[in-house]
Amino acid sequence: MINVTKTYLPSKEKYQKYIDEIFESGQVTNNGPMVKRLEKRLADYLGVKNIVLVANGTMALGIAYKLLRLEGEVITTPFSFVATTSSLAYGGLKPAFADIDSETFNLDPKKIEAAITEQTSGIVPVHIFGNACEVEEIESIAKKHNLKVIYDAAHTFDTQYKGESLLNQGDISILSFHATKLFHTIEGGALIIEDDALAREARLLINFGIDGPDSVIALGINAKMNEFEAAMGLCVLDDIDIVLDHQRGVFERYESGLKDVVSFQKQNKHSTQNYRYFPILLKTENETLRIQKALNDAGVFPRRYFYPSLDTLPYVEASSVMPLSRDISSRILVLPSYYSLTKDQQTLIMDIVRGANRDDAFSGL
Ligand SMILES: *Cc1c(COP(=O)(O)O)cnc(C)c1O
Repeated sequence: MINVTKTYLPSKEKYQKYIDEIFESGQVTNNGPMVKRLEKRLADYLGVKNIVLVANGTMALGIAYKLLRLEGEVITTPFSFVATTSSLAYGGLKPAFADIDSETFNLDPKKIEAAITEQTSGIVPVHIFGNACEVEEIESIAKKHNLKVIYDAAHTFDTQYKGESLLNQGDISILSFHATKLFHTIEGGALIIEDDALAREARLLINFGIDGPDSVIALGINAKMNEFEAAMGLCVLDDIDIVLDHQRGVFERYESGLKDVVSFQKQNKHSTQNYRYFPILLKTENETLRIQKALNDAGVFPRRYFYPSLDTLPYVEASSVMPLSRDISSRILVLPSYYSLTKDQQTLIMDIVRGANRDDAFSGL
C-alpha cells in the first residue's frame, strides 16, 4: 500500500541517545534543554530572528491571533487544510473568505481587497503546498487598510523569497511540525515573530500567562512542545538536507513524466520550492475520481488535497460561495511523495495516471 505520505523517521540509535539525556536530566517538558537547542538550531537553519516552539500548528495560529489582537472578521483562503479556518472560528473570529487564483491556488490579492469591511482586522493567507503568496501585494493592502497579516506557512519550511526566508513576511508566520510535514517533531509547530516584545509575549501565552513562581500576568493557555518532540526534531533536522534532496528528485520525476497529461500548480518566480507536495490538476471531477479509483485499485492512495473547499464547512456563513476554490478542489489530487518512495513505485503511479487519463478519450467523460 502506498499512501500520500509516510513519516520520515531518523535513526533509532540516535533518537535513543537524546532519550537517554532526557532520562538523565529528568526534565520532560516546560521549556527544557531540548526545546531550547531546537529553537536555536532552527533559527540558524531557517534564517529567522525569533522562533517560539509550540505543541502544534493549530495552536500557533490561535496564539498568533491573540498576540495581534485580531477581532471581528479575518480574511482567509477557502483552499487549505481545515485548521486555517477552524482556528479562526474556534477563536471567536469570523472567517471571511476571498477566492483564490486558479493557477497558483493561493489567495488572489485583488479579491482580498474586495472582501475588506469595517469589521476586518487581519488577513490569514496560506502559502499553499509551499508556493509563496503574492507577499508584496498583500503587504501593501494590509498597510493601506491597517490590517495584520499572519501567514499560515505550515507547508513551507526553508523556502527562500528573493534571497531571504519567506517566513520573515507578514507580522507573524506559523509552521506546523506534524508528522506529515517536511520537517517534523511528531506533533509540533512554531511561531516566527520578528518583533522581540511580541515574541516574549508569545512565550508567556503558551505557558498559561505565567511570569514566575507566584505570578500570572496575562491570559494564556498551554501550548508547549515537550522534550521528546524536540529531540525528534533535532534528529530530523540532522537529516533534512538529504530528505529535501530526495523530495526534489521525486518532484522532478513526476513533473517530467506527467507534464503532457495533467496541469501543475504555477510557482511563484521569486521563491524557491521545498518540493514536499505534488498536486496534479485534472480537467474534470469525473476524471479526477477515475484516476483516484485506478490508483486505489493498485493500492495507491493519493489524497484530494484540499477537498472540500472550506467555504462549504457547516460553521461558516453559507452565503460566501467561492467558485474558483470549489472548482480547483473538485479536480485536484496530491500524489504520494515521501522519502522512502522508490523510483519503481513512482513509475507505477505515473503509468496508472497516464493510462486512466487516456481512458478518458474513449469513455467520452
Ligand atoms: C498541517 C496544517 C495545519 C495544522 O497544523 P497541526 O500541526 O496539524 O496543528 C495548519 N494549516 C495548514 C495549511 C496545514 O497543512
